[in-house]
Amino acid sequence: MSASLTFPDLAAVVCCVGSYDPDALRVDQVQDIIACFVRSVRTAERVDIRAALGRVLAADVIAPFDVPSHDNAGMDGYALRGADLAAGGAAAPTVVGKGLAGHAYTGAVPSGACVRIMTGAVMPEGCDTVVPQEFVRLEGDVVHIPAGVLKPGDNARQRGEDLRAGQPALAVGKLLRPADIGLVASLGLPEVMVWRKLRVAFMSTGDELRSLGEPPAQGSVYDSNRYTLWAMLTRLGCDVLDLGVVRDDPALLEAALRQVCENADAVITSGGVSVGEADHLRAVMAKLGDVAFWRIAMRPGRPMAFGRIASGVHTAVLFGLPGNPVAVMVTFYAFVREALLRMMGASPKPQPLLPVRALHAIRKRPGRTEYQRAVLEAQADGGWGARTTGDQGSGILRSMSAAHGLLVLPHDQGGIDAGKMVDFLPFEGLV
Ligand code: AMP
Ligand code: MG
Repeated sequence: MSASLTFPDLAAVVCCVGSYDPDALRVDQVQDIIACFVRSVRTAERVDIRAALGRVLAADVIAPFDVPSHDNAGMDGYALRGADLAAGGAAAPTVVGKGLAGHAYTGAVPSGACVRIMTGAVMPEGCDTVVPQEFVRLEGDVVHIPAGVLKPGDNARQRGEDLRAGQPALAVGKLLRPADIGLVASLGLPEVMVWRKLRVAFMSTGDELRSLGEPPAQGSVYDSNRYTLWAMLTRLGCDVLDLGVVRDDPALLEAALRQVCENADAVITSGGVSVGEADHLRAVMAKLGDVAFWRIAMRPGRPMAFGRIASGVHTAVLFGLPGNPVAVMVTFYAFVREALLRMMGASPKPQPLLPVRALHAIRKRPGRTEYQRAVLEAQADGGWGARTTGDQGSGILRSMSAAHGLLVLPHDQGGIDAGKMVDFLPFEGLV
């Protein structure tokens, strides 16, 4: 699909990564290679702001006017001239009118007078200060302001204090969240320019796999990866293309991958990339493009294919993930998510990790990054502690479902004693 995108040679990218060894890559090396390789879509479209949630801005959103557009009251109270306050802030002005949000007081406010005012109302001409109503004592029309509660300029919002007309309110590359949608609306703009949606195909490989609706057979396994991939891609805001289970047959695999090139920007396969198994898939991937087969120093998720495949002028980025259901999710979070965000035109930052206390000793081998499923428990001291879900077998999807997130145990780290702090990646906020 991405005929307009030109990808570099994988060889040119990997040689920028120090000590490249496809059989012993560190997680951070893989992340660097992928970040250097992928290109973002360049086609923009204008959409209604209610269709823009989760999309990526393709142009800065410029403030068409000052925000706020007029000086206004920050509190319910009385607007007055700051110059009327005595040295300690005391004053006793007389009320000459009333200003509400949407109904400004337009009369004059002489020195020694004040205006009853509500939050958001336009400040009357000459007034620059609001005394909150809870600080005053009313005696007829006279507002008694005690000393020590007010300085000139207090509780008034200045025109343009948030944004000046012509300034960017949101920058290109911003992934739009609820606050952004509201911000665009506050500027009076009904539409924004966003990059087109990324189209991502996915398929499963493995002759043991059954699709939903098919009867189970001896030794068969229901295909779950296509459903977790569908769910993660949908949450990421991609258009998805489900290619089903593709049998380990070179002609079928080639036809499926060629179809991907014509219809999608990227394809995610699961299964069949470990050495010795399903050789057809690796051969077809290699035949159709520039694909590297890696063994990554991580657990779970060791084998992975990455690169691009082409059919005629059409190209797609390829992620060949391992088959185990937990490995699929972990490699998606470690590598695919960020790559797709870049392709969507966003500038993703590393996921923030939460430091938590290990509630028991954790076995970990130095020389690989480990992602261990864990549940959090609130601690008496107000912090969080983490307990792993036990057996970390990469086929146990139920423990992924039970976990609150993953402990991310770095490459050089060895075993961890109970009570030590470890990094936790919460699922909440991930796709
Ligand atoms: P593979 O990477 O193809 O060797 O697969 C590793 C393990 O993951 C095997 O036990 C497969 O049966 C299992 N597996 C592969 N693909 C899927 C899938 N789509 N859904 C569920 N399990 C799978
Ligand atoms: Mg397989």
